[in-house]
Amino acid sequence: MNCGTCGAVADGYVCHYCGNSTEKVQGSQDEMPALAEFHQMLDGHDKEKQVELLRNGFLPSDTQALIEAGLRCIPLLHSEEYDTITPASKGRLLAIVTKLRLMKPDAQIERAVTEFERNLKQQKKASRRVDLIILIMGLIILAGIVWVIWYFTKG
Ligand SMILES: [Zn+2]
Repeated sequence: MNCGTCGAVADGYVCHYCGNSTEKVQGSQDEMPALAEFHQMLDGHDKEKQVELLRNGFLPSDTQALIEAGLRCIPLLHSEEYDTITPASKGRLLAIVTKLRLMKPDAQIERAVTEFERNLKQQKKASRRVDLIILIMGLIILAGIVWVIWYFTKG
């Protein structure tokens, strides 16, 4: 069997090359195992490939599987790799939120969207904090340089 998206050999529910679902996913009952396979595959790759897979990888259509996909995205969103994995997971989670919003609203979808958006907001705050720390460190170094110049030129 070959991947319908990139043509690579694909025997599972998801293509291990591009991360899209294969013909083996026939209906919503196959989306949970496909999602599990996607995340298992993700763990086995290096950072660069993980970013690519998170950006283009399989997204379920079934509500339950889609919510599960969002939940699995949260730990990645708060990853230490805030310049690679975090933005890629953020993009994935935003796509999931958009897909959920396009569905017929019910209480469960509402709760999931609220929770995902809360995490996205939290992540934004955390990245602003990192920017602030970098700025303060820069100012301290600058002050040090100014002091050194002043010290050696005061005569
Ligand atoms: Zn593929």
